[in-house]
Amino acid sequence: MLDFRLTDEQMELQQKARKFALEHVLPVAAYYDEVDEVPLEVLRAAYEQGISSTDIPKKYGGKGYGAIEGVIVTEEIAAACPGIATSVFDNSLGMEPLILSDKEPLKEKYLSRIANEFKLMSFATSEPFMGSDVSGIRCKATPDGEDYILNGTKYWVTNGGIADYYSIFATTDPESQHKGICAFLVERDWDGVSVGKTIPKMGQRCSNTVGIHFDNVRVPKENVLAEPGQGFYLAMKTFSRTRPAIGAFSVGAARSAMEYAIDYVKKRRAFGTKIANFQGLQFKIAEMYQKVETSRLLTWKAAWEADNGIDPTINASIAKFYASETALEVANEALQIFGGYGYTKMFPVEKLLRDIRLFRIYEGTSEIQRMIVSGYAMNSYNPVMPHLEDLPLHFDKEPETVNQSDSPETTAWRCRMCGYVHYGEAPPEQCPFCFMPKTAFKNTAEKTE
Ligand SMILES: Cc1cc2nc3c(=O)[nH]c(=O)nc-3n(C[C@H](O)[C@H](O)[C@H](O)COP(=O)(O)OP(=O)(O)OC[C@H]3O[C@@H](n4cnc5c(N)ncnc54)[C@H](O)[C@@H]3O)c2cc1C
Repeated sequence: MLDFRLTDEQMELQQKARKFALEHVLPVAAYYDEVDEVPLEVLRAAYEQGISSTDIPKKYGGKGYGAIEGVIVTEEIAAACPGIATSVFDNSLGMEPLILSDKEPLKEKYLSRIANEFKLMSFATSEPFMGSDVSGIRCKATPDGEDYILNGTKYWVTNGGIADYYSIFATTDPESQHKGICAFLVERDWDGVSVGKTIPKMGQRCSNTVGIHFDNVRVPKENVLAEPGQGFYLAMKTFSRTRPAIGAFSVGAARSAMEYAIDYVKKRRAFGTKIANFQGLQFKIAEMYQKVETSRLLTWKAAWEADNGIDPTINASIAKFYASETALEVANEALQIFGGYGYTKMFPVEKLLRDIRLFRIYEGTSEIQRMIVSGYAMNSYNPVMPHLEDLPLHFDKEPETVNQSDSPETTAWRCRMCGYVHYGEAPPEQCPFCFMPKTAFKNTAEKTE
């Protein structure tokens, strides 16, 4: 059964997140953007109201919500401030490697704590030298008995300056690429962990982003999330489950840009009429609406797959790059509709545009998503149509008269280069269209495997 309706519980959650976004996030967003600071009290309020870390399984004291509930909540918060939404959602990203791992005692200890206390957990694969190429991690994990000693730097760590715990991806051997990648749960208070200065950013300034340095940090064996060789796959699995949220950030932010544009066209006047009466602007609004709706469909589909035991990797990538790119187009057009006022800090569209710009970069750039999707489309996807050289297309004969075994004159030979079909006992010496030799012809009765 295909059903796009939300359950009563999901609608209730949506209303709760919407109320939270309007009461706690929207009023402070512009201020914290200006001062370039994360509003910790908003993150705390999100925890207290049960709309962050919603994916902690019930057995550890969490809400046990799925990816669908996650994207519903995320859209609402991002609609008020994409930066704060990033910091609220970051706990889910940070915890996902732990949730996916099979380390039961570690889950008992940390997931229960995060469910019962206001604790933040960040995720770190990226480093100063690498981001897209996760197999190129250099942060070194040296075995010491059953423990590991961490040395190196992670960069771009969202909430890194305020988090209590980190999911850290490192390597036992930078030369062995993905085979050496492992993962650890590290506490910020441990000896040898230091936090860099807040990185000043173009947008999402309400979200904290820092570098984290490890100087001979001892990680006890109990805090190993993934053994060497398993870390790379854990990171990829994490992204497959968390990328739909980037789609949801995009939908929420684009939705607000569109709503502000609709409000503005109904009030602003030019050439003796409201600008809402110009069909050129009506068409822009239609396209904004279309992009928000299509992005939400893709995002929900990927989240639904994640919740229903279907590998969401491809649809999560599609949702991520489609929604993040269309959101940027929506915000850009919204700013255009505002004219000069759109370019000021007095209206919210310029902030949305700056905030949205990040969606194309983190959790795998648009280019990386295209690599994932093209790799699947070209190597794993099962096409329905026959190969081009096996197409049953005939211009000169009735299709049912072709390849009759009792009549050699009906044998069809297709030129693999230009598609011309020759009928006869044998192929022609040369193609009359593209001049390829007879070896270029294929008997259409023989199918390509
Ligand atoms: C504000 C912010 C928050 C972040 N939060 C986190 C976080 O919490 N945790 C974390 O681990 N990381 C985080 N990141 C890092 C982010 O995931 C990386 O910036 C991103 O993956 C890109 O990596 P890079 O910046 O090293 O770019 P690079 O990997 O150096 O890429 C540079 C350019 O080359 C392109 N490119 C690279 N490889 C290919 C290819 N094979 N084909 C075509 N094009 C290619 C990229 O798309 C990009 O355009 C954050 C980044 C920012 C800016």
